[in-house]
Amino acid sequence: MDCLFCRIAAKEISAAVRYEDDRVLAFDDIHPQSPTHVLVIPKRHVAALHEVDDDALAGALVWAVRAIVADAGIAQTGYRVVTNAGEHGGQEVAHLHLHILGGRQLGAMG
Ligand code: 5GP
Ligand code: ZN
Repeated sequence: MDCLFCRIAAKEISAAVRYEDDRVLAFDDIHPQSPTHVLVIPKRHVAALHEVDDDALAGALVWAVRAIVADAGIAQTGYRVVTNAGEHGGQEVAHLHLHILGGRQLGAMG
């Protein structure tokens, strides 16, 4: 399967890595929508959030968010975590990713 985020997880394509553990990689979005815009992905291919079937991975995703917002200094000012899934969700890359957005006042959800 030719999956962009699998290739980033395998370090075949470079990215500005913000966090890494055994299960999860996080890196800056290439087209940031806010001063902090980090994508958190499972290292193994999982298509979308509803495909997560592993407590350890679910936990690792949340622990990654905790570490990233602390490192970015946005835990106190606030942030948003969004995941797009499927056609109605507007998902463009079919490998689960959590967007962490922060560093500015965010608008209403669309
Ligand atoms: P989606 O629309 O699937 O929720 O979000 C995909 C995100 O991946 C977009 O925000 C887009 O800017 C980001 N993106 C697409 N290609 C690349 C890439 O090659 N590197 C990085 N770092 N981000 C990418
Ligand atoms: Zn993938």
